[in-house]
Amino acid sequence: MRLFVAVLPPAARLAELGVAVDELHTLPGADRLRWAGRDDWHLTLAFLGEVAEDVLPDLHARLARAAHRTPPFGLRLHAGGRFGDRVLWAGVAGTTDALRLLAERADAAARRAGVPMDEHRRYHPHLTLARSRAGVDLHPYVESLAGFEGAGWEVGEVLLVRSRLPVAGVPGETPRYEVVGRWGLGV
Ligand code: ATP
Ligand code: MG
Repeated sequence: MRLFVAVLPPAARLAELGVAVDELHTLPGADRLRWAGRDDWHLTLAFLGEVAEDVLPDLHARLARAAHRTPPFGLRLHAGGRFGDRVLWAGVAGTTDALRLLAERADAAARRAGVPMDEHRRYHPHLTLARSRAGVDLHPYVESLAGFEGAGWEVGEVLLVRSRLPVAGVPGETPRYEVVGRWGLGV
């Protein structure tokens, strides 16, 4: 199954972001962007890709340990950015060192469980808002998000999420993401 490890901002924090994202929909080209479903918004810590069933018990145990070793920490959603002209995202601020450490621990947990992880790409925490294939200029979107400052929250758990790729021609049939494991931080 296709898996990733993520942190989920609380609903109230996502609602704040939603207000800022509403504004983006008035910008030129907004209808040509592929917007991430709001119910699916998340912060990816580590992308595992296809993982064999027999790896799961060890993976769960190692993620539990990674969570146990990481005390809860504060975060807030903050401004936005883009990866080239392809991905528009919301950023995070606060105790980002702890988020980075948790991402490294999730990566190490997966690697040690036998998941072939990509070699160290620099971790860039972000919440994907939209993807572009159509050459839409994302600069105005990033500018519009520049003043966005969400309220803080305490990150208290890490999630293992299954991702089902959409079946061509069958839009929205099954939920895209399903939480298959969750572990409290520091417990
Ligand atoms: P879609 O692929 O249909 O656009 P998605 O990217 O949200 O949707 P997945 O491809 O399953 O779904 O990815 C799940 C999460 O992992 C997303 O947050 C995605 O940005 C991230 N992700 C996917 N591939 C990688 C990768 N190679 N490296 C880092 N993160 C990735
Ligand atoms: Mg993807």
